[in-house]
Amino acid sequence: MNYLTSNTAALPYIQVLLTVLTLLFAILMPQSLAMWGVSIALYVLIGCFGISIGYHRLLTHKSFKTSKFWERTCTILGMLAFTGSSIGWVGVHRQHHKYSDKEGDPHSPVLHGPKMLIANYDFDPNRWSIRYLITDKFHVFTHKYYFGIIALWMLFWLAFGLNFLFYLVIIPGMISIWVSTISNYVNHKWGYKNFETNDESRNLWINSIFTFGEGWHNNHHARPGSYDFSVKWWEFDPAAKIINLIKR
Ligand SMILES: [Zn+2]
Ligand SMILES: [Zn+2]
Repeated sequence: MNYLTSNTAALPYIQVLLTVLTLLFAILMPQSLAMWGVSIALYVLIGCFGISIGYHRLLTHKSFKTSKFWERTCTILGMLAFTGSSIGWVGVHRQHHKYSDKEGDPHSPVLHGPKMLIANYDFDPNRWSIRYLITDKFHVFTHKYYFGIIALWMLFWLAFGLNFLFYLVIIPGMISIWVSTISNYVNHKWGYKNFETNDESRNLWINSIFTFGEGWHNNHHARPGSYDFSVKWWEFDPAAKIINLIKR
């Protein structure tokens, strides 16, 4: 099994497909403002608990300890962001920190330019860096059957009607994947530095609002082992506040 590339190679196609489907849905079907609110609330759950707290700060950087319940819950929410399994995501992100804006960085705007706004995360497999995930049955299972699990989740909601499929799965996923690619770009392009790191990482408040604190990205590159990305008192990091409640 190819632990690293099987999910991420499909991401650009998924991003385009979800975007086209959402546009068609918005144009052709009657829309509900309340249900768009539900989609955004689900994006908050997926982006904050799934990606920021789960995939990023817990699984990639192991920056705090928590119960299996929170680890599994955050992983499942992370899968719904349509940016791949935990194993694929962590592999890509570890490579991003290792090479940061140098040859080998899978999503550096310095190297790749705006084309990385479409999720094309090309990277070299490094099993050693994710050994703790590829020896964990839960993470291997959710990686191996990633697309099958997503397909079942979509079919489940489709059984209730097309609206449910769109508002509860496709639209939150579409928002998640766009926020992820845009913030990967902005993180190393716009904003200020608190630390003279060996890369182009930046802090940007507006990026932090949409990503639950991830936009304090220069702070994060300077201190990757810290789950709290804020340094200055006004750099608000909502994900870190939640981690304070679930860590042990
Ligand atoms: Zn990181
Ligand atoms: Zn970065």
